[in-house]
Amino acid sequence: MAPTPILDERLTIQKHRKFLQRHLAILPSKHQEHEANKLAIVTYALIGLSCIGDPISEEYAASKKWLRRHYRVIGQGDSSIAGFFPSLYMDLDNALTISLTSTLFGLISLLCLKDHKFFNSDVDREGICRFVSKCHKPEAGGFSASLDIIAEDGFQPSKTDPDDLRHTYVAIAILYLMGCRKSSHFSQYVCLESLSSHVKEKACISGGFGQYGEPHAGYTSCALSILELISDRWDIFPDSFYDRTIEWLLQRQVSDKCPEMSGHEHFDPEDDGGFQGRENKFADSCYGFWCVNSLNILKTSQKVGNEYQNGLSEYLINKTQNSLLGGFSKNDNEDPDLYHTCLTLAALSLMSGEFDGSLFLPRKVADTAKSQLIAP
Ligand SMILES: [Zn+2]
Repeated sequence: MAPTPILDERLTIQKHRKFLQRHLAILPSKHQEHEANKLAIVTYALIGLSCIGDPISEEYAASKKWLRRHYRVIGQGDSSIAGFFPSLYMDLDNALTISLTSTLFGLISLLCLKDHKFFNSDVDREGICRFVSKCHKPEAGGFSASLDIIAEDGFQPSKTDPDDLRHTYVAIAILYLMGCRKSSHFSQYVCLESLSSHVKEKACISGGFGQYGEPHAGYTSCALSILELISDRWDIFPDSFYDRTIEWLLQRQVSDKCPEMSGHEHFDPEDDGGFQGRENKFADSCYGFWCVNSLNILKTSQKVGNEYQNGLSEYLINKTQNSLLGGFSKNDNEDPDLYHTCLTLAALSLMSGEFDGSLFLPRKVADTAKSQLIAP
């Protein structure tokens, strides 16, 4: 069954298709193996094509094999660890190149291509969970994205990786895709007490989440997605905190009807309807996704309606869509790029109820992953 496309006649679908396909066109060739972040590129392109309704699991069926070449099991039996490395260029014998981020991209891409055999029988599920577990820093509560080798068969979380909510989100999403659904499952691999403290530390007074007390829409989406996936830890904050989060998120939408903003150095009336990632910043199409995902998780539509979505759709389609080249840009000035194209299509799909933002998967793919593939 093909994915459900976004239905909006203002979208130049054919141009977006060509734009996204260009990023996949060289999939099996030699050159792309030197691209350091190939798995990320492939994932963004596949998600974008799914959002416009392309039957990618048929069109790119042959790529499953290529994607699987990025998967590696290290060690054996009860001590194995498993994951994906970011590019075939990083397939090195003497270095541990698997990372949490690449592992999530690899799993998402294989799910989009319906490689159910990988999930049902071929993956070393415990090995992947052990990898996540080894990246966990139980004292700090967060995760590194990769491991350092400290002795033969000995690993420790990489000291150079920043300890922020992005890695924590990626770790929890991987465990979810490996079958964890509630605290008792996740706690087999990570210390949920320290993880909860780590999430609480990133909460800001305003209701957003961020580093060093500055709330940021991307980190806020990560924090709420973590709580959504763990499912039974919402009580780490009182309800009043989540009300503030909704308010903070809605305030990130730029309006040209705000007289006190005119003349402000970070105010552009062309941003009307778009979302900013931080206070006093210009709108950026990708924050439409992070904010709508957060607002959806908090079931904001049931509380204050979804009026804000009309303005956002207008902004994304009228200001950031490139009808000539295809793709979407960050704002009304820049050239289109793959990341903002994927995130914008995902935001539009999220607003039509066809995208699962906490797993970053098209709704139908996420539903299959939740119900059929993996029994907790
Ligand atoms: Zn952006």
